[in-house]
Amino acid sequence: MKNVHNTLQHLVWMMEEVASGDYKQRLHMQGDISLAFNHMVDNLIELSLYDHLTGLLNMEGFQEHAAALLAATVPSTHYYVIAININDFKNYNALYSSEQGDALLRKVGHFLQSCCLTGELCARLHADNFVCLVQGKNAKEIIKRLNVDDSDQWQGITSRTYLFRHGIYAVEDIAVPVRRMQDCALYAANSIKNEPQKNFALFDATLAQHFNLENSLLKNFHQAITEKNFHIYYQPKVDLATGKIISCEALTRWQSPQGQMVATEQFINVFETNGLITALDFYAAEEVCALLKQQLEAKAPMVQIAVNFSRVHLLNKNFVQQLLTVLGKYHIDPHWLQIELTESAFMENRLATLQMVRELHEAGLTIAMDDFGTGYSSLNFLKNIPIDVIKIDKLFFAEFATEKRVRLLLKDILSIAKHLQLKTVAEGVETKEEVDFLQRLGCNMVQGYYFYKPLTKEQLLEVLAEQ
Ligand code: C2E
Ligand code: CA
Ligand code: CA
Repeated sequence: MKNVHNTLQHLVWMMEEVASGDYKQRLHMQGDISLAFNHMVDNLIELSLYDHLTGLLNMEGFQEHAAALLAATVPSTHYYVIAININDFKNYNALYSSEQGDALLRKVGHFLQSCCLTGELCARLHADNFVCLVQGKNAKEIIKRLNVDDSDQWQGITSRTYLFRHGIYAVEDIAVPVRRMQDCALYAANSIKNEPQKNFALFDATLAQHFNLENSLLKNFHQAITEKNFHIYYQPKVDLATGKIISCEALTRWQSPQGQMVATEQFINVFETNGLITALDFYAAEEVCALLKQQLEAKAPMVQIAVNFSRVHLLNKNFVQQLLTVLGKYHIDPHWLQIELTESAFMENRLATLQMVRELHEAGLTIAMDDFGTGYSSLNFLKNIPIDVIKIDKLFFAEFATEKRVRLLLKDILSIAKHLQLKTVAEGVETKEEVDFLQRLGCNMVQGYYFYKPLTKEQLLEVLAEQ
């Protein structure tokens, strides 16, 4: 009796271990119980490597099977890891139902699996992210094989030219962990997220450099904040009526461990996704307030400074209070600080922005709508929102010389802004022709390389002292 009791107790303990994910447990006893138990664990292992929805391998399964496949491969075989993502899948899910979304995922999974040959793998990692390990002569040939866009079975799913975007990682060294290969392929696919005319991207040397830099920045983010490895540059805004600097914009740069000064623009999206942007924006605001304090106390020349705040802050009800706390800490009157919010942030969250902008205004801060002309704001909304400045996006000036329509549009924007009594800043102005044009049409300020590139703090103080 005691023997049975011990065996059962051992079995219960093993079950608990297996239930917690330890599939290494095996019963080593004679008889059916052992056989049944070990068989069950083998089945669980198999199940844990597959995706329930599509029946394809899941992330763990892909990594395990791909590592085994690559280890057994002959050196002359060219393998590629391809990440496949469905464009607009989020919209599709929202527009129809999650059941239909699931059905689409199953259909895509089935299709991709049918494109794979013997010795190749197909998996769903998560959501609408699929990955394949395939052989081929080159990336183009593989895309042709996997390119489901040619088939009419996908009609009506997206309004884009392509339903899928592919990221391609060529396996050159099988010692690289499969996890990294997969992440590189996903990174390549994501790099063309906002380029609807493309359906594939190769993980090449440029993307690899960017990927490594991004990983390094994410890993070192908190250290970079505490050690002040983010540097603030200041780009002057010149008043076209007087030719003097009347304001400037704070722009952050990250100094990498290798000493490179990296513009944070390329990381803003990543920071917005993981929420780190909040810390970065407040860091910039504190640096700016410290500079304002130093100059104002010394009664030295100073101008109003604009700080960029991400759309992420619109979700934070305490944002205005937090900002006022920073201003209070440095004894800075709010009129010295301007808040730049992009036009698209305004458009995404109209009610939240309206509320926040009102609060900021009441507190004495001024607000600029950044990148104007890229976010489709309605004129009615512009009329009702208490902003002070619109910053005309630099894209207009990329086509200024060649496109007459661009010049006509600029003329209209400046005239509307005047009617609404908004100040105007033109960004990205690089030529005298552009400056003369803007001056003639009554644009108030210019921020661009024609006058100044972003300056270090020391350079800014020097030019302010000279004027
Ligand atoms: P932005 O707010 O539109 O900033 C203007 C960008 O245009 C700056 O790029 C500036 O260097 C660049 N620029 C200025 N004049 C010219 C010109 O004449 N020609 C050209 N081609 N470019 C010009 P930067 O510093 O790389 O910053 C890019 C973006 O990153 C900013 O765009 C802003 O959206 C974002 N950003 C920078 N710092 C911060 C920050 O602290 N917080 C947040 N949330 N965003 C930031
Ligand atoms: Ca800005
Ligand atoms: Ca801008």
